[in-house]
Amino acid sequence: MALIVQKYGGSSVANIECIEFVAKKIAAQQESGHQIVVVVSAMYGETDRLDKLARQISKQPSTRELDVLLATGEQISVSLLTMALQKLGCKAKSFLGHQIPIITDDAYSRARIFEIGDKALLDAVEKNTIAVVAGFQGVDHLGNLTTLGRGGSDTTAVALAARLKALECQIYTDVDGVYTTDPRIVPNARKLNRITFEEMLELASQGAKVLQLRSVEFAGKYNVPLRVLSTFKEGSGTLIATESLKKGEESSKVMEQAIVSGIAFNRQEAKIVLRGVPDEPGMAAKILGPIGDAHIEIDMIVQNMGENGKTDFSFTVHRRDYDLVLDILNSQMPAFSASGTTVEGSCTIAKITLVGVGMRSHAGIASKMFQALGKEGINIQLISTSEIKVSVVLDEKYLELGVRALHDAFKLHEHPIEE
Ligand code: ASP
Ligand code: MG
Repeated sequence: MALIVQKYGGSSVANIECIEFVAKKIAAQQESGHQIVVVVSAMYGETDRLDKLARQISKQPSTRELDVLLATGEQISVSLLTMALQKLGCKAKSFLGHQIPIITDDAYSRARIFEIGDKALLDAVEKNTIAVVAGFQGVDHLGNLTTLGRGGSDTTAVALAARLKALECQIYTDVDGVYTTDPRIVPNARKLNRITFEEMLELASQGAKVLQLRSVEFAGKYNVPLRVLSTFKEGSGTLIATESLKKGEESSKVMEQAIVSGIAFNRQEAKIVLRGVPDEPGMAAKILGPIGDAHIEIDMIVQNMGENGKTDFSFTVHRRDYDLVLDILNSQMPAFSASGTTVEGSCTIAKITLVGVGMRSHAGIASKMFQALGKEGINIQLISTSEIKVSVVLDEKYLELGVRALHDAFKLHEHPIEE
């Protein structure tokens, strides 16, 4: 018998009809011999509704109280789903974070899991009782309620699967898997059967929104096979796992041998360019130091070769931080302008990222990418690469054209030939 952790997202438990559908699905899987621990999110829209209530009182409510409020969403859905399972004759019991317990640090609204108890859940499993666990919530060591950040139920599910050494962690959602890119932009985007943790991590951090980023990090760290699949549509979804074969697995089922697995994109960034920066030690730190001190995350950083003692320095930040970054830089302008440095920026950029573990062993991916964009007359403003990705920044108005051109150029709609 295999222990499986299943997580049902907000759209899977959006109303009583959905909840009863999900209960039937779980009951059928238990019937077929699986031991199941379920993690549930709040009903669709509930967390947003609660958050809005809080914001009617204060723009910046106390994060402790916000967590107490937001965690109620999951309390509603676990109890309802448990009732629905019981109505079908299943043994089922709901658990809140503190009843497991899921112990976190005390960083309200973005807490990290320290430790998870397994006794309550293993007891339930042993008694053939379906444990229905509230996602997204935990308690700190003093017993204060905490939440794991928006989308945190994914992380709860992966953490429980790691703790219980589950065979698989299944994330049931409203899409039937991870696609080569967003099908709303590229209609012939293809569902991937398998993808590696590393690739998923890149795709998730570069803008693909299927899974909470931290859940993927966690799954990779503890090697928990993660499967994204649809609640309402049959299918085997997308398996996110390591590249290596699992025990007993046939070699024909090895990871699809694609060089490029997917294309992620992000319209949320802004670009800042400093020209005529003195090409001397300490300049990059001088520019970025105050921005880091303001807790602003920097994404891409590009510096040119110096010429005549001057260089250009560009970087990207989230669009919401754009004005603040310009303020910070301008406040240092007297020092900069003395040396002739100018600052400019743009909020109408977008980033496209090509991701694939196959890039490690294949040359020429970046040039093929640039060629495809060039053919469409798309100018590349910034480039950055790592072992398994190439990102480019371009004018936002070319984003969709660029994604389509790359999807075509790398033939991502076709199944890769397995080697
Ligand atoms: N209910 C929480 C949210 O909406 C957690 C989750 O859905 O994973 O962010
Ligand atoms: Mg969610």
